[in-house]
Amino acid sequence: MDNNIWHLTGVMEENFNDYKLPSMLISTGFCDDKCSKDLFKSKYERGCSLCHNDKLVETTPYTFRELLETYTANIITKALVIAGKEPMKEFYILLELVKYFRTLSSDDIVIYTGYNKFEVLDKIKELEKFPNIIVKYGRWIPYTKKIYDEVLGIELWSCNQYAERLDNQNKKIGWYTEKEFEKSCKILHGEVL
Ligand code: SF4
Repeated sequence: MDNNIWHLTGVMEENFNDYKLPSMLISTGFCDDKCSKDLFKSKYERGCSLCHNDKLVETTPYTFRELLETYTANIITKALVIAGKEPMKEFYILLELVKYFRTLSSDDIVIYTGYNKFEVLDKIKELEKFPNIIVKYGRWIPYTKKIYDEVLGIELWSCNQYAERLDNQNKKIGWYTEKEFEKSCKILHGEVL
């Protein structure tokens, strides 16, 4: 497992923007451009992507051992954040890294996904098997209001986004019950009239 490799667009040893605890940030390399496709279909079809992670293009291979040695050598960081492009797009390697990290540390792992929860329920079920996993859900929708997220302790860019701690029995989903929230997402994406 030490020698498993993840091709990443970046590793930031200390990051203070994406979680309430000082974190190491790793940035993944692939996404299906779903935010642009869903919300700006006509522009996307003309070849115009509005994804703010578009600049994350070139990937570099990192072994799991390298990543974890970097994390454990830093006395400031208390969490690992795995973010954009789209970590769920490479779920197999994400899950392997979570397993590996958990053999060495029970620190929080925060996963930023652009998917809504109902789109990745099978993956959430796998991640729920581990303690201290936090997932931030939801598309990036420009020009919506920012929203403060209590779980992350930071402001998220779109008010449809939220995070949950997977091992918390009293999960909060913004202002809604989970059912209401999923329905509102489906309406937003034209799946329910
Ligand atoms: S999920 Fe992230 S990387 Fe993918 S299109 Fe949305 S903002 Fe861009």
